[in-house]
Amino acid sequence: MHVETWEKCLLFIRERIPAQSFSTWFEPIQPVRLHNEVLTIQVPSQFFYEWLEENYVHLLKQAIKSQIGENGRLEYSVVVDRGNDSVQPTTVSVSGGSNNHNKNRVNGYDAYKNPDFYRELKNNSNLNSSYRFDNFIEGDCNRLARSAGFAVAQKPGITSFNPLMFYGGVGLGKTHLVQAIGNEIISADNTKKIIYVASEKFTNQFIDALRNNNLQDFINYYKEVDVLILDDVQFLREKEKTQEIFFHIFNHLHQGGKQIIMTSDCAPKDLKGLQERLVSRFKWGLTADVQAPDFETRMAIIQTKMQADGISIPDEVVEYIAYTVDTNIRELEGVVISLIAHASLAKTQIDLELAKQILKNIVTDIDSEVGIDYIQKTVSDYFKVELEDLKAKTRKKEIVIARQVAMYFSKDYTNHSLKSIGYHFGGRDHSTVIHAVQSVNDMIDTNAKFRFAIDELKKKLKIRTAVA
Ligand code: ADP
Ligand code: MG
Repeated sequence: MHVETWEKCLLFIRERIPAQSFSTWFEPIQPVRLHNEVLTIQVPSQFFYEWLEENYVHLLKQAIKSQIGENGRLEYSVVVDRGNDSVQPTTVSVSGGSNNHNKNRVNGYDAYKNPDFYRELKNNSNLNSSYRFDNFIEGDCNRLARSAGFAVAQKPGITSFNPLMFYGGVGLGKTHLVQAIGNEIISADNTKKIIYVASEKFTNQFIDALRNNNLQDFINYYKEVDVLILDDVQFLREKEKTQEIFFHIFNHLHQGGKQIIMTSDCAPKDLKGLQERLVSRFKWGLTADVQAPDFETRMAIIQTKMQADGISIPDEVVEYIAYTVDTNIRELEGVVISLIAHASLAKTQIDLELAKQILKNIVTDIDSEVGIDYIQKTVSDYFKVELEDLKAKTRKKEIVIARQVAMYFSKDYTNHSLKSIGYHFGGRDHSTVIHAVQSVNDMIDTNAKFRFAIDELKKKLKIRTAVA
């Protein structure tokens, strides 16, 4: 009887919510009994029960009403036992009419906290003290992100930048920046509870918690933080259940005025595979992009890192590296570290020749590759347009042509992806790059003067390729 009633309730519910939510939150429920118009259902955990009450209480009431009638009531039986054979579910009664479950918290709640789980999480903010603001170099590419991050670090949870979300390609400093925020907050007030966690780790912790039946600990742990830093949220794509949990934690923290900071490898609107309601939450605060470092920033990064190691190198070498390594900061760092290692071994001053030799061995395809920056500079010189205009929105004909030509060479002469090329041209779409390449090919076919220009440019770019 109770099984049948519950199945009818399920039919009622199934029609009204997304399939994913249904299978997450309703399939695991077991009907226990139906007695005096009270239907008792068993749910796997305290958290599960709270979640149902928070999100589906009205739907459940409707379902009960439709199957049992006006006086129908629902009672939860919450499993709090952790894996023993003698499962003795503690029961909490929640009537269909009242919403007093907070007064009626499940007994024995403390008993099933898992000390190991807590210990692992508790002493571990996962902050790495080498990522700080004072060694984060500011440039046009990261100015907005840095200043928003700094503001949040001064007043976590209080600014309107909540959540704060940084996005951009790999190796551009997102992790450095969010860690710097965490370190800054801790240094001002070490009672603040901060957790930095990579989304992958978060997902694994969640899965472990499910498996070990301590989902509640997991949830509570994250609900207690003052600042939650979730790195690389793109990793949550297609992970529906992890998203549900994060959504729940997110709402709790946000409502409590706690700071949430996230990073992603793409803009929120491109986070396909993430629930819409989650993505729309991300947009509540501030979203700032971190772009590939421009030439000046690359120069500054090389100089600073060299100085930090007490090594000085001639400007032309710094310039050469900055021109050649234009993909991301991680790669740039790798090159600088290699140079430093060589310099200290050889005990010689690093000159241009040595730098070229070293780079040849560590930067793949350097022989055939010129950097996008160099292409942009060569092309803008040739067409006598401003370098900056190549990255700007300007639609003036001569600039559009120069921009397309520079994109065309970037596609041909570098290993950058279409997406990355678009990035280097003022954050344009990969389809814009495809279009540029097609236009240039068309013009080469139809316009002799243009063809000549392309040949000239090829020579200029090739000379440098041979020298490098
Ligand atoms: P992401 O998380 O975007 O992939 P990271 O934060 O891991 O990038 O940065 C890659 C490396 O480059 C790190 O070692 C970081 O310290 C360094 N780095 C990135 N941006 C900067 C910057 N603006 N100033 C100094 N170092 C930086
Ligand atoms: Mg990162």
